[in-house]
Amino acid sequence: AKAAGGARYAFFDASMTKGPPDQIELLRELRLAVELNQLELHYQPKIHAPTGEITGAEALLRWNHPTRGMVSPASFIPLAERSGLIIPIGRWVIEDASRQLRIWRDQGIRMRIAINLSVHQLRQPDLADRIASALRTHQINPELLTCEVTETSAMVDVDATVRVLQKLHAMGIQLSIDDFGTGHSSLAYLRSLPADELKIDRSFVLDLETNEDARKVARAVVNLAKALDRKVVAEGVETEGQNRILREFGCDQLQGYLFAKPMSAKALALWATDNVG
Ligand code: C2E
Ligand code: CA
Ligand code: CA
Ligand code: CA
Repeated sequence: AKAAGGARYAFFDASMTKGPPDQIELLRELRLAVELNQLELHYQPKIHAPTGEITGAEALLRWNHPTRGMVSPASFIPLAERSGLIIPIGRWVIEDASRQLRIWRDQGIRMRIAINLSVHQLRQPDLADRIASALRTHQINPELLTCEVTETSAMVDVDATVRVLQKLHAMGIQLSIDDFGTGHSSLAYLRSLPADELKIDRSFVLDLETNEDARKVARAVVNLAKALDRKVVAEGVETEGQNRILREFGCDQLQGYLFAKPMSAKALALWATDNVG
């Protein structure tokens, strides 16, 4: 990871130089953060709707900044994407999640991990090889890893994306289409993606209890996902009411603050052993 953040990525996008000074400063610090290992993965449980059991966890980046505290990915992922720094960061995520899978396996904790892949990573020709190599190094069954790809990023350079996803799928890695329903992709295209699960975007979950139209739209999106014969996950579940409605709709898995917020790997291991059955 030491080569990460090298000059090669310095000004991936020349327009960065004209950005506001605080963005340039943030980019400088982010590059340093990658080198100094200030990034962490936190984990949010994914819950099997019929049984309430934990099926795995989504790895979410956190930047443990020495003076700013925990910096949210919402504020640095876009910057990382514009600057190209997402490539070394993404590699670190793949490595760290694989390492964590190994730790949990050695502790006898059955846990899958889902990582988020950015559109830039999908365009790296060596993505599948890097993932394969990380899994091999830590002797991890590829079926324990899920790659989440947003519907929008799966629509960029469609042919190349489908090829990469097919390669990952052939390796036994699970694929999830994230933020499903927000990308307006065609049914034919969605069908052609080798996805195992579709993850209904939080925006469809938000007004489930209060708005009849929102409920109809959400039900239609869930039914669409089910019609495509994929597992359906709902994200951003915060209330018992949303939980009940999404179960009625037939969602397979649920994720959200109602069950647990993202937490450190150590806290997740405790949470998982306290919440079995
Ligand atoms: P996402 O993949 O859609 O992740 C879900 C986000 O919703 C996470 O925000 C999570 O903490 C938050 N969330 C989960 N449950 C609830 C809930 O019940 N209510 C509310 N209000 N929010 C909930 P987070 O961790 O801030 O991440 C934001 C985004 O940053 C992610 O959205 C993802 O697009 C991106 N991101 C995070 N980690 C990575 C990464 O390792 N690689 C890449 N490329 N992107 C990442
Ligand atoms: Ca995600
Ligand atoms: Ca999502
Ligand atoms: Ca989302």
